[in-house]
Amino acid sequence: MVARTVLVINSGSSSIKYQLLDPESGEALASGVVERIGERDGIITHADSGGETEQRAAIADHKAGLGLAFDMFTRDGGTLDELGIAAVGHRVVHGGTIFTKPTIITDDVVAEVDKLSSLAPLHNPPNLLGIEVARALLPDVPHVAVFDTSFFTTLPAAASTYAIDRDIAEQHGIQRYGFHGTSHDYVSHQAAEHLGRPYDAVNQIVLHLGNGASVSAIRDGQAIDTSMGLTPLEGLVMGTRSGDIDPGALLHLLRVAGLSIDELDELLNRGSGLKGLSGVNDFRALSDLIARGDADARLAYDVYIHRLRKYIGAYLLEMGGADVITFTAGVGENASNVRADALAGLERLGIILDEEANEARAKEPRIISSTESAVTVLVVPTNEELAIARAAWKLASG
Ligand code: ADP
Repeated sequence: MVARTVLVINSGSSSIKYQLLDPESGEALASGVVERIGERDGIITHADSGGETEQRAAIADHKAGLGLAFDMFTRDGGTLDELGIAAVGHRVVHGGTIFTKPTIITDDVVAEVDKLSSLAPLHNPPNLLGIEVARALLPDVPHVAVFDTSFFTTLPAAASTYAIDRDIAEQHGIQRYGFHGTSHDYVSHQAAEHLGRPYDAVNQIVLHLGNGASVSAIRDGQAIDTSMGLTPLEGLVMGTRSGDIDPGALLHLLRVAGLSIDELDELLNRGSGLKGLSGVNDFRALSDLIARGDADARLAYDVYIHRLRKYIGAYLLEMGGADVITFTAGVGENASNVRADALAGLERLGIILDEEANEARAKEPRIISSTESAVTVLVVPTNEELAIARAAWKLASG
């Protein structure tokens, strides 16, 4: 048995994802997801050294959901104590400008996170529910909040400010916060470590391409720009989100097309991106459609790559060149065609991929640029749970 473990909780509106990790070795000892909380056909899927289990039951609320997960941990007659949980790390989406780093959760922290709910109404309230339930179930260990936004609190004003009326912006907290920070932070550190270079001496571009997608520019160890903004809707083309769009198009849809605010929200967050263009949001399904000659899927891919290249170009310019470009998350780690197309024809900028290395599959950080490339291109698997576990462990043990 591991002496000290960290439980990581990612609590959403109708689901709770959890993982029990050894923060030192990085090993995941157990993981699971409770889904369809609040519905009659709830489901929990749990995996640990005893194998994988799935159980269906009505799951009334988050308390019942996390309770079920704890039942799974002790299903073979063990006790919770035997898990050696030394800290709980909670993913919290919005930390505003206040939470610049992982923070031990107190009642005051809960109150501040609650205040930030207006900026992330779909995320912070369920994050808080997870915190409340977990604190009640594990009252004797430190609980640590790790914020998606913290990594980007270093953004210079020129990058974080929207060019709108300053009073209105200030009154409503309208600025660019950035998201996926835990992943950008973890992956950029992994990249520097893999190359054996000091973190604050490399200029990096990190491309987090999953269902959600974002790019960051990191200069001298600090994030100076990122593609997501006030919300995770800005920037790249995503699975179901539009990314950048002329705000005038939204006014037009409200005024002329008569869409309601909820319909517009649904359209931009769940009915756009790859899905809106091609009917599918999963990249593998998109690739299958393209292989069958589907023109909509082809266009979706082209728009996706076009937007990606635009951001890469912008960030190269902002930093006066990059030392490292890193691909991560589901698409970034697996889709070699996306990597090749995102960086095609950039020899003059010192970016040259090694085709064979780009095609090779591995679960470890790896270099995919050629030896002649001035810019090192990497694939680094992200691991947000481990990053949260390590942050929680550091605070709990420090
Ligand atoms: P999330 O943002 O939900 O965490 P992930 O990082 O898991 O998402 O990425 C999900 C995306 O990665 C999906 O579009 C999926 O199709 C894509 N993906 C996963 N495996 C592959 C693969 N082998 N080839 C291409 N795309 C993949």
